[in-house]
This record gives sequence, C-alpha cells and structure tokens, in this order.
Amino acid sequence: APKTVLITGCSSGIGLALAVRLARDKQRRFRGERGGGTPPLFPGETPRGAEPPLPPVIATMRNVGRSGALAAAAGPALGRTLEIKQLDVCDEGSIRACLDSIPGRHVDVLVSNAGVGMAGPLECQSLAAMQSLMDTNFFGLVRLVKEVLPDMKRRRGGHIVVISSIMGLQGIVFNDVYAASKFAVEGFCESLVVQALRFNVAISLVEPGPVMTEFEAKVYEEAKRADYSRTDPETADIFTNLYLRNSKDVFASLGQTPEDIAEHTLRVIEAARPPFRHQTNAAYTPMAALKHADPSGALMTDAFYKLVFKYDAVLRLSLRAIRLLRWKAQKVKEGARLLGFK
Ligand code: NAD
Repeated sequence: APKTVLITGCSSGIGLALAVRLARDKQRRFRGERGGGTPPLFPGETPRGAEPPLPPVIATMRNVGRSGALAAAAGPALGRTLEIKQLDVCDEGSIRACLDSIPGRHVDVLVSNAGVGMAGPLECQSLAAMQSLMDTNFFGLVRLVKEVLPDMKRRRGGHIVVISSIMGLQGIVFNDVYAASKFAVEGFCESLVVQALRFNVAISLVEPGPVMTEFEAKVYEEAKRADYSRTDPETADIFTNLYLRNSKDVFASLGQTPEDIAEHTLRVIEAARPPFRHQTNAAYTPMAALKHADPSGALMTDAFYKLVFKYDAVLRLSLRAIRLLRWKAQKVKEGARLLGFK
C-alpha cells in the first residue's frame, strides 16, 4: 500500500531532493491523491479516475517562507502528491501541531533529516552554538521519535529513517562537536532499535560522506566569520590552511549529490527488511572500519594523524586524480547520451 512519509528539513539539500524523488515516484509508492480524478504527473501517463484519497509525501520545514526551491522542483506534484508543512525540530509544539494536522496522525515513514554543521577549533566556538547544534541534530531527532514512535508502536508498524553521517561512526579533525552530535544520534538509535523491532517498527541510519549542499557552504561561511584570535596561531593555521583547503578538495572529489542520497534513502525505505545502517559512499567504508580492526584505537589515530599531517600532499594529489577521473566519466556519459546510448 502507498506510504505516508514525513521528512524534516526540506527547504534545501537532501530533504528537498528526497521529498521531490518520493512525490514524483513513477511507481506511485508514496502518492497522495486529494480525491477525485487527477491529471497525469508524467508525460504519456493515463489520467486516473476518481479514487479514495491516499496519503501524500509531507515535506516539512522550519520556515515555510523558504519553500520556493522545493515548490519549483516538485512542479505538478505540489498539492497532489506533496504537501508542505511547518515543522521546527527544536520546538515540540510545532512537531505536535504538524502531526495533529495529519489524518489519524498516520505516518508510515519518518525521515529525520534536519541538521546543521559546525567545523573549526573548539576555542573559537561558543558553548551556546554547540548547544544549539546538539538541540537540532540530536534532541531534534529525540523530539520527533518521542512524538511518532508511540503511534507506530500502537499500529505495530512504521519506519524511522535517520540521516546520520559517516561522522556518526568516525570523528574527523575539527568536526568535534558535529561528530559528537551524530555519535549521539547513532547511540540513541542503536539502543532503541531492538525495542522498536518488538513492535514491528524499523529504524535505519543513512550515513553519507560529503554531500554537495548548502551545508558545506554554511560551514565555510561560519569559518570565515570565526575569531581565530581565540586560539593559538598554529591551530588557526592548521584549520584555515590545511583543513579548509583539504575539505574543499574532498567535497569536490568524493562529494555526492543530494539526489544520490535521495536514491540511497529510497532504497532503504523500500527494502523488505530495512538495514539498520546504510553507508552511501564506499570510499569511506575502510575509514570507518579502522576502529573495529584495532580496539585500542591506535590504528585509527595513527592513520588519521599521518593522513592530516604527513601525507596531506599525497592526499591532495589523490583527490585531484579522483576529480579528474570523475570529470572524464561525466564527459563520457554526456557523449554517450548525445549519441543516443542509455
Ligand atoms: P542543508 O543545510 O541543505 O539542509 C539541512 C536542512 O535542515 C535545511 O533545510 C535547514 O533549514 C534544516 N533545519 C535546520 N534546523 C532546523 C530546525 N530546527 N527545524 C527544521 N529544519 C531545520 O544540508 P544537507 O546536507 O541537506 O543536510 C541534511 C542532513 O544531512 C543533515 O542532518 C546533515 O547533518 C546530514 N549530512 C550532510 C552531509 C553533507 O556533507 N552535506 C553529510 C552527511 C550528513
């Protein structure tokens, strides 16, 4: 049966791409119908007759005034298979009001996607900013689950999909607080999943590596505004020169698109037996496995130290080579498309 999916943080990035992907699903697995006949969503599709209403994809965002990009990308799906609703993950009242506005509060799949980033030397970040990040990335999920899980348990069915991060498994230099928030998310879900299973409710963590969204730009903007006089010159130099430069190279070489992550998330949602964890970028799997190969942590710390401080030139060269290969593969794809190959 078609599923009602509620997604948070849909004004941009992964949330937006996922909402559009599901609402325009050609197999109509997430279609909502407002009753009566509907004109075709895709060219060549037969118009459907009068049918009972089906639940839609509910794309939520903190500020519905920022729905322009989603509305434009959704096109004819808006108002038919996609509904936009207000939801601030930091406000219990707003979560409750959103759920109460859904018939029977029926949500089959909750996608907890809203999140914020933070990178830089610890001394340059205020405790208030760190607490606010935790409030969104961790307590935002907790608030949603507290509100949605009891209904799912009562119905003995449902799926909670959490957009975590590869940084929920492995910390990365200068991402101390962000990684901690995603570790918290992972620990929370890992503890909850067994109880949820008892009630036939699945929990899945989607763990992307770098994704090219506003997220990255926002982190760089913050980095520009930071007061580096609050740390020592060596740390400031490592962050502003080494880290930021390498981070940009990493995003350009290994970064996925939000549409890629939407496809991965769709696979998790539609799985007959949803996985508890799903990494979207195979390039990061060995990195995340290091700590399991050596429980003392020495292998992991040594590998990362060398990567950051000893072999950063090799890292940059490898990233450049990957970027070149990706660019070439893209050109081959475009050429093949022009020649009529699929
Ligand atoms: P993004 O900045 O484009 O999207 C995040 C969305 O969350 C924004 O639309 C923002 O408005 C929303 N949001 C922030 N606070 C909110 C609140 N209180 N209530 C409701 N919405 C709120 O970035 P993105 O890359 O699409 O990020 C989506 C998720 O993916 C985040 O959880 C992020 O941690 C995770 N992630 C991102 C990357 C990456 O490199 N971009 C990598 C791994 C995981």
